[in-house]
Amino acid sequence: MMKMKEYIDEAEKALLHTYNRYQVVLDKGEGVYLYDIEGKKYLDFVSGIAVFALGYQNKEYNDALKAQIDKVIHTSNYYYNVPAIEAAKKLKEISGMDRVFFTNSGAEAVEGAIKAARKYAYLKDGGTDHEIIAMNNSFHGRTYGALSVTGNPHYREAFEPMIGNIRFADLNDFDSVLSNVNEKTCAILFETVQGEGGLYPASEDFMQKVKKLCEERDILLILDEIQCGMGRTGYMYAWQKFGIRPDIMTTAKALGCGVPVGAFLMTEKVGQHSLAAGDHGTTYGGNPLACAAVCKVIELFEKEHVLDHVREVSAYLEEKLDELCAEYDVFEQRRGTGLMQGLVCREPVRDIIDKAMAGGLILINAGSHIIRFVPPLVITKQHVDEMTGILRECL
Ligand SMILES: *Cc1c(COP(=O)(O)O)cnc(C)c1O
Repeated sequence: MMKMKEYIDEAEKALLHTYNRYQVVLDKGEGVYLYDIEGKKYLDFVSGIAVFALGYQNKEYNDALKAQIDKVIHTSNYYYNVPAIEAAKKLKEISGMDRVFFTNSGAEAVEGAIKAARKYAYLKDGGTDHEIIAMNNSFHGRTYGALSVTGNPHYREAFEPMIGNIRFADLNDFDSVLSNVNEKTCAILFETVQGEGGLYPASEDFMQKVKKLCEERDILLILDEIQCGMGRTGYMYAWQKFGIRPDIMTTAKALGCGVPVGAFLMTEKVGQHSLAAGDHGTTYGGNPLACAAVCKVIELFEKEHVLDHVREVSAYLEEKLDELCAEYDVFEQRRGTGLMQGLVCREPVRDIIDKAMAGGLILINAGSHIIRFVPPLVITKQHVDEMTGILRECL
């Protein structure tokens, strides 16, 4: 059998080098643990970047997918299929939104949201020069539309020109938003909790003020819940904590718990006055296999009381991370909410993450100076203790 090092050499000859990958070849998962091809066990505090919420080898989830594979994996969006109908119904229930469009990824959900917003504005006044306000420090994906609203010039520079008419404001600085609003503004877009940008939750005050502004001016509020949604903050969607509702929202990552699927959702008002037949489409989006996963994931969230569990275990995680912060000089502060936490460091974190991996703990960064904790939502307090134990040894 080929050894890990040999596989990595092969990979570096064949795959495009767009990631500085960690030196491990993963093989299988079990609960909240991953195993590499040499049998070494790792506690997983990344879950494929906030994807595998229910842990690996959930029997009901696996059985549902196997059953769907034996029926039909793909048809076409030109026909109806039961898993997509059921998944859309369930997604409406958990989100309180009215209309669903399934995509294959998060970035595609953002693309759809942008198109819906521009079409909504176009139908109002026939203009084609509408503007979207996005946030500095944000992350919305790597396709052109999503990249154009991503507030990180480093990701965009080599790929200019972006799509036009995007302005950038600062999250939690309402005045910076207000000063960018004009009669051409059609949407304000942000992550309810910024993920890649460094675990910054939107504040209550900012959310309420932006929502009010949007209502007064008929500007669409678009919330990106791709990372912070699906229970990660102790709410099905993080905006539900604020008692407001966006006009459009995006979801992906944990939505299918590993099967590539995303969605953008909207209110009935936007649904009736934006994308119509022929305006948007996708070959794979919402296929029976992906939607069977979505159905089962939502069902298991309810059955296993995932939200209650997240609230309980995340309070414990916060407490333990705060202790680490107080103990070690290298940590500046803890930031984040629910099971979406970051430890801000005074030095680049790659070294700590490499050491953790050697010690059997998988962690990931958010930017160069933050260790990000986005574990499977089913972790227990014992797993938190195990994690801090390994981290202490590395420090
Ligand atoms: C990951 C992420 C995306 C992009 O999703 P992909 O599935 O990688 O295209 C968009 N927005 C946020 C907030 C994300 O975390």
